[in-house]
Amino acid sequence: MENSLTPEADLAALLGPRWVEIEASALEHNVEQVKSILAPGTRLLAVVKADAYGAGAVEAARLFLKAGASYLGVTTLAEGWELRRHGITGPILLMSPLLPEETSAAIRQDLTLTVASRRDGRRVLEAARETGRPARVHLKIETGLNRTGLQPEEAVALARELASRPEVRLEGVYTHLARAAHPARTREQFRVFQQAVRALEDAGVSPPLRHICNSTACLKYPEMHLDMVRIGTLLYGQFPPGAGKGGLDLRDPWRLKARLLAVRRVPAGTPVGYGGDYVTRRPTYLGVLPLGYADGLGLTAVARPKSAGDLARFAAKMVLSYLGWRGRDLAVDVEGRRAPVVGRVGMQLSIVDLNDVEVEAGRTVAVTMGRPITGARLPRLYLREGEPYLLRSATGEWIAVSAGAMAAAPFS
Ligand SMILES: *Cc1c(COP(=O)(O)O)cnc(C)c1O
Repeated sequence: MENSLTPEADLAALLGPRWVEIEASALEHNVEQVKSILAPGTRLLAVVKADAYGAGAVEAARLFLKAGASYLGVTTLAEGWELRRHGITGPILLMSPLLPEETSAAIRQDLTLTVASRRDGRRVLEAARETGRPARVHLKIETGLNRTGLQPEEAVALARELASRPEVRLEGVYTHLARAAHPARTREQFRVFQQAVRALEDAGVSPPLRHICNSTACLKYPEMHLDMVRIGTLLYGQFPPGAGKGGLDLRDPWRLKARLLAVRRVPAGTPVGYGGDYVTRRPTYLGVLPLGYADGLGLTAVARPKSAGDLARFAAKMVLSYLGWRGRDLAVDVEGRRAPVVGRVGMQLSIVDLNDVEVEAGRTVAVTMGRPITGARLPRLYLREGEPYLLRSATGEWIAVSAGAMAAAPFS
């Protein structure tokens, strides 16, 4: 799967002007931290959906398994496939139901299926017969998210039918929380889930892996860890809001970097970018940043305001934005100094205000933006203790990076 980079190959050219650095030892450290709050019998399912929250699913999955995760979780068949194609043999749970047409392919790839409806169940039975391969299954119970899941009362009959077939391995039963930071709501979902599990057991079906916790619930409710927890956010070094830190010391593996393509000095009164929306107030150095909205820059999810206070804050932001104020997030860090993005963000290029600081073109800057929305086409460079060892290029190739090749590369 990996081509070796010849020493004379130019890593700087492969990397291009923007890339994400992922520190492998931080991902491993976070696995150990999460495991330290689990009982010895509780397994860790590492969630690597959405390209491992931007970290790159294949290498993140390998590191997590080696560091002690027992299971991987993804959303789509294609995500599971990508892992298998790159030689990952550990168990992988598809945490969403599939289209009927996808089921046989998932079984052939030995991906664990979620059965969240009677229709899913029927399709799994057919597909297992068609392929002649055993189908690993986790039942998903509806307990309050109201997205996918079997009603508790329909679960027993279906579970019995699945468990009676030699071609099906009914390995797990789970549910997903709607508001994990809210103790009363979560306890209610837990109660409904436990009741459904007891009904299965009373009917003689005891899937060995019962699981409910995501990152928030794992921190807040140790009594809900059961046989396995499904963790994403914490493994990537972030604490979900409203859950505290649970005594964990996490490391952030992620750094997004870009190199300025050009720098120019312009006088006061210069309109900048499309539409001339921004006009400089003083003589200014402007830098060209090789990132735009197609890469995720400047995109934020707008949630419905939840209270009058939320609404007031949202309205105030809109007014400030009309007056030319830029969000705190839309800026790059140039050696500890903040340079805001000015003017409209373009599709793949934007402009930063370097103020009166002269910076040479080619300088590396640190960029903050939403990780799962950071374009998958930006190269991912994996480091161990700061030393690069592997690159996923902009075109998706995996390239082992040797120490020799790095000498020529412009890391700062
Ligand atoms: C994303 C996801 C998780 C992990 O959530 P985090 O809060 O990131 O830990 C767990 N379970 C399911 C079903 C998910 O989709």
